[in-house]
Amino acid sequence: MATNGSGTNGASTNGTAANGKAANGKAGPAYPITDHSFDVLVVGAGGAGLRAAVGCAQAGLRTACITKVFPTRSHTVAAQGGISASLGNMGPDDWRWHMYDTVKGSDWLGDQDSIEYLCRNAPQAVYELEHWGVPFSRTEEGKIYQRPFGGMTTDYGKGTAQRTCAAADRTGHAILHTLYGQALRNKTEFFIEYFAIDLIMEEGRCRGIVALKLDDGTIHRFRSNLTILATGGYGRAYFSATSAHTCTGDGNAMVLRAGLPLQDMEFVQFHPTGIYGAGCLITEGSRGEGGYLTNSEGERFMERYAPSAKDLASRDVVSRAMTMEIRDGRGVGKAKDHIHLHLEHLDPAILADRLPGISESAKIFAGVDVTKEPIPVLPTVHYNMGGIPTNYHGEVLTKVGGDPDSVVPGLMALGEAACVSVHGANRLGSNSLIDLVVFGRAAGLRAAELVTPGEKQRELAKDAGDLALARLDRFRHASGGTPTADLRGRMQRTMQNNCAVFRTGEVLEEGVKLINDVWRGSADIRTTDRSLIWNSDLVETMEFDNLISQAVVTMECAANRQESRGAHAREDFPNRDDKTWMKHTLAWLDEGSQKVTVDYRPVHTYTMSNDVQYIEPKARVY
Ligand SMILES: Cc1cc2nc3c(=O)[nH]c(=O)nc-3n(C[C@H](O)[C@H](O)[C@H](O)COP(=O)(O)OP(=O)(O)OC[C@H]3O[C@@H](n4cnc5c(N)ncnc54)[C@H](O)[C@@H]3O)c2cc1C
Repeated sequence: MATNGSGTNGASTNGTAANGKAANGKAGPAYPITDHSFDVLVVGAGGAGLRAAVGCAQAGLRTACITKVFPTRSHTVAAQGGISASLGNMGPDDWRWHMYDTVKGSDWLGDQDSIEYLCRNAPQAVYELEHWGVPFSRTEEGKIYQRPFGGMTTDYGKGTAQRTCAAADRTGHAILHTLYGQALRNKTEFFIEYFAIDLIMEEGRCRGIVALKLDDGTIHRFRSNLTILATGGYGRAYFSATSAHTCTGDGNAMVLRAGLPLQDMEFVQFHPTGIYGAGCLITEGSRGEGGYLTNSEGERFMERYAPSAKDLASRDVVSRAMTMEIRDGRGVGKAKDHIHLHLEHLDPAILADRLPGISESAKIFAGVDVTKEPIPVLPTVHYNMGGIPTNYHGEVLTKVGGDPDSVVPGLMALGEAACVSVHGANRLGSNSLIDLVVFGRAAGLRAAELVTPGEKQRELAKDAGDLALARLDRFRHASGGTPTADLRGRMQRTMQNNCAVFRTGEVLEEGVKLINDVWRGSADIRTTDRSLIWNSDLVETMEFDNLISQAVVTMECAANRQESRGAHAREDFPNRDDKTWMKHTLAWLDEGSQKVTVDYRPVHTYTMSNDVQYIEPKARVY
């Protein structure tokens, strides 16, 4: 059974704030603190967090999983199209072809050792999910059904692969529920609706986190030998995003506040088919099943932009083609500002069987019956390639002196929060779900090597967590003139206008100025609810603060990278420049001086084993 935290595991309440007075240093009631101690602490209960928690618990480690939403409400639940693995159930396939596609999809910014690890371990990870109970769709012979997805090919680009395993168009839902069941079965201790505020860092080592229990306002300090951040992406820095409102990149922001860098933040993926107006996703699986796009002239324009892959070209290519059609006046609708996605030529039985969820979304959010008329769609922010730099064991990296791969002790990151980097400059569809489970499993294996069950831990410093409480206190009592919602709206519009599908130096420079103005504006932030119980005003303000730091870093990194690669398309630098720019961006943020510092890490141009060779950069042909 899920335990609800307090009272379990010998947690102790010490009745005062860490320093015995209110964290703002003013007179007033102190925040009572409850202390917990675990071998491993997982922050986040999406696919990545849950898979890691299962592995750690199976290794005999006392594992806590903290989540701000109920586990099965994590954004992974919304994943539709599927999970990639070269099972070869619907035709020939090979993990080396999958690796080639992923390197090419990454536009040669992915680390090839990590990509090898991902692709060769993918089939096993999918069979594991199957054995744990994921109800995959089936072929006639009873094998796992696999559909074509953008950028997934056979024989190093020669044919179309059917590599994406699907449970109808609710694959993430099926996976998340199964993993939650497994995590409970393996006695993970859940702390549900706890909001992690900040990491506890001591001399460069992560010692745990400080969290606010949302339903009663109590403060909890979690100590652990290993903390695993699996807090998801930060899509909500933008105005129109397919991600849930909870995708605010809290873990990434905690890492920035701990003085550690984020990597490749300029790479933000737009999904070609968000429903016009609402932003909800229509899966790429719809084009995998035979759907296609048209402009106002009824032309299947993808044939012009990507003669070979057509509507199944990778997402950056399709999003840019759509944007170009709209700019050239060939958008559909009264304002000529969107594109049509056709499914009405497909057999209604196939739509009902393989794409039931999106048929429903199209009805609800666009009023469209997909068996009769096209769906209005527009490129919408979908995925963050950038995040916390890690190696393929999930260990967080930073650059110290000349060492670009220096491990931060006690800290791991996984899933969309992390940058392993397997997706490089652009993620292929269905490669995220597989990233969650392959690296979630890898983190569990590494944790078993690094941590001994029940290992004694040093006491935390007396003032551990004071900084987190000071932050909480500052926002709880913020009495400026600007409500959080105003600042958030300005941030989201700035990101949407100035850091979109196409970018130029001029627009980005303006973006840097505007986004820094918003950031400075947060000095004047106002919250109105001073309570501590279900204070959504306070939580949204901390989430906004997390988002704005990532928005600033994203904009600065985009302005800094003077080339076009993957999702980062600069009109003033239209070519990929491997000589100067085949390197990862690292960005640190200094909150005090509000300055971003940029440095670089080399891309790993070597593989993990000798079973496969380094794939040399090639020009892109679609
Ligand atoms: C609509 C949609 C469809 C998609 N479809 C596909 C697909 O078909 N195939 C594919 O491969 N990928 C798909 N993706 C991408 C993929 O689903 C995500 O990248 C992935 O699910 C992210 O998983 P995660 O475990 O990293 O994080 P999430 O699932 O986002 O979970 C984050 C977790 O962190 C917790 N958390 C966050 N902040 C805090 C905090 N401060 N304190 C405590 N807990 C916190 C949350 O409660 C949550 O449990 C899709 C994405 C979207 C948005």
